[in-house]
Amino acid sequence: MLTDLLNPTTTSPARRRVTIGDVVFGGPAVPVIAGPCAVEPEYVSHAGAMHEAGASMLRASIFKPRTRPGSFQGMAEEGLPLVLEARRLTGLPILVEPLSEEHVELLAGRVDAFMIGARSMQNTPLLRAAGRSGMPVVLKRGMAATYDEWLAASEYVLAEGNEKVILCERGIRTFETATRNTLDVSAIPVLRERTPLPLIVDPSHAAGRADWVPALALAAVAAGADGLLIESHPVPAESWSDAAQAITPGTLEAIIAGVAVLAPMLRAGVATELSEQRQIIDSLDIALGAVLQSRAGAVRRIQQDKRRSGLPVRDLDREQEVIAHLAARTPRFSREAVARVMTAVMDGCVEASGPFVAEEAPAG
Ligand code: PEP
Ligand code: MN
Repeated sequence: MLTDLLNPTTTSPARRRVTIGDVVFGGPAVPVIAGPCAVEPEYVSHAGAMHEAGASMLRASIFKPRTRPGSFQGMAEEGLPLVLEARRLTGLPILVEPLSEEHVELLAGRVDAFMIGARSMQNTPLLRAAGRSGMPVVLKRGMAATYDEWLAASEYVLAEGNEKVILCERGIRTFETATRNTLDVSAIPVLRERTPLPLIVDPSHAAGRADWVPALALAAVAAGADGLLIESHPVPAESWSDAAQAITPGTLEAIIAGVAVLAPMLRAGVATELSEQRQIIDSLDIALGAVLQSRAGAVRRIQQDKRRSGLPVRDLDREQEVIAHLAARTPRFSREAVARVMTAVMDGCVEASGPFVAEEAPAG
């Protein structure tokens, strides 16, 4: 089964789950953390838009590590009431990036998880402080860090007795300049063999451009990522930082829908509890629903064409061919079962295609 390909049990260590609020990383679901690059004065409404788009958790960066000192450095303490209010209103957990040990002290126990950014990956006092806080830590890969260096950094947090670590691939420096960084999708299968920690991906800082984010996000999930961290803003062009890579809530929603279709197919084997297995079934049914909707649309178009050219609506030979076609791909089912299901599907699709509407344009 497809899902077994992502669980090479002979080589992989047992997977660990890390829970932030009620969001589980490393289980069957693939949560998406979203929000603007930096917390801005309108953050509470931004967070509402992320919630509505289906985000599971909020990016809530009040301190920003910027390449240039003249760039916006984040709202700092002033942003804290905003992120706490956003959490209260949406019920979503918040991920905040401390840049120093003082920030860890300020934020510990008040926010839901810490993000250690790429620039801080080897800031060992910060890693130790985040470890001591006992808070869940999302540890980003340094932009020029090897897998070994990244895992070594995670050991600073783990060594403090804090096992709640999630690794986040965010793109690395390569000779390529078209993208801001090069997303290293290989990190997912390779690290799967080396660590039990959940692995998530930030496609935003890898792409550097909004229109490339969906492809990278879905590639990451296809590779087995346990979650995504995405920069999104209600009006991307008005973002105070990283405007070029911010996606709209509409695009975020489309990515979340894509993840909802992909994830259950790829991650069914990760479900352990009855409730999770049911969640997988529900998700697969959602995917099945989407396929049925598309099939009904395709049938509607072919029906319109057939009626226009005076061909019969049903063609029994063709229906037998459709059944045989599917039966060859569904060895878990008897041919009779496939015939029963497909006959119902074909009847349903013809019924859903409705009466002939003469003025509708032919399918293009
Ligand atoms: C961020 O996620 O806000 C960020 C600065 O990313 P990175 O640390 O990966 O550069
Ligand atoms: Mn950013």
